[in-house]
Amino acid sequence: MIRPAALVLTAGGALAAMALAAATRIALHQNPRPGQEAGEVPTQTSSDQIQPRYSKSAYDITPLSKERIAQLAAALDPETYRITQKAGTEPPGCGTLLDNKKEGMYVCVVCGLPLFSSEHKFDSGTGWPSFHSPFDPDHVAEVEDRSYGMVRTEIECARCTAHLGHVFDDGPKPTGRRHCLNSASLKFFEKGETLPPESRPVETETAYFAGGCFWGIEHYFQQGPGVIDAVSGYMQGHVEQPTYKDVCGDETGHAETVKVVFDPKRISYRRLLEAFFVMHDPTQLNRQGPDVGDQYRSGIYFTSDKQAEEARAFIRQQQETSRFRGRKIVTELERAETFWPAEEYHQDYVVKTGRPCHIADPWKK
Ligand SMILES: [Zn+2]
Repeated sequence: MIRPAALVLTAGGALAAMALAAATRIALHQNPRPGQEAGEVPTQTSSDQIQPRYSKSAYDITPLSKERIAQLAAALDPETYRITQKAGTEPPGCGTLLDNKKEGMYVCVVCGLPLFSSEHKFDSGTGWPSFHSPFDPDHVAEVEDRSYGMVRTEIECARCTAHLGHVFDDGPKPTGRRHCLNSASLKFFEKGETLPPESRPVETETAYFAGGCFWGIEHYFQQGPGVIDAVSGYMQGHVEQPTYKDVCGDETGHAETVKVVFDPKRISYRRLLEAFFVMHDPTQLNRQGPDVGDQYRSGIYFTSDKQAEEARAFIRQQQETSRFRGRKIVTELERAETFWPAEEYHQDYVVKTGRPCHIADPWKK
């Protein structure tokens, strides 16, 4: 259930990022991820190293490449360019959005990511538009700014690094914070207006896979490039709200299943099927290695006719390969019924317990 909130770093990328951080600014409020030390700044050097990233509110916040940012910035007027790309500040009292009291969303002027909502706007009396909270904390990055002999916290767009303004600790309740914005960094969409695609959340798709014990299957699906969330649970049985104990009892008809919510623009259902077959042995009937019982059966539970067709074709093709010569694939293919999430202690089990996982990593090249 972990959300991939940070980039996977390569050693070179991390070093470059650390050098950058030391030279100019230090990233704040970043949670280190596996393989990433505290204080490292996620960065990227080329598009093939990018691990897609999603915010809690399900927006694609994968950092844009330098090339893409340059392309977008080229369309800005000189003043907006100066403010967003060169960390400029507009004079107080002049911004077009200062007195805007309409309901709606303030998006990044460069990349369109929603940054602030009218719900959180307040009159700070400073002459700059002010908000006590961002729309989603994942969308606004905070970096230490030591320019002009002061120590301030700069805020920037988490997706395109456009400079937005600064954040101070003298704001109103409930956060006590004041996000002080340049109007030029924002574009306003009134409530009811259609937002452009770059300002909308990801349109997700859901897939379900049963491949024996769900701990490892969930662990690796969660790491798929384009997977937003993987959750362990039970499905295809006849007992409502089953517990782990019920399912182990072998009489509920449920299979240990992993729900995979993914971004079909970033990863295909076919790629998930391939990963699933790397992670388990689809020729074992009602067991998976040492785990025996129909709760450990192999199953693909489809959520659309298109998924059903793709899965059927995939199994047929796999059966013809040398890997399965003389061994019958027994994976069941059924329409998804109700998915019952497993108890909290089963979620992210491999990460929580640090237990080594013996199944194959399906994303390794
Ligand atoms: Zn942006």
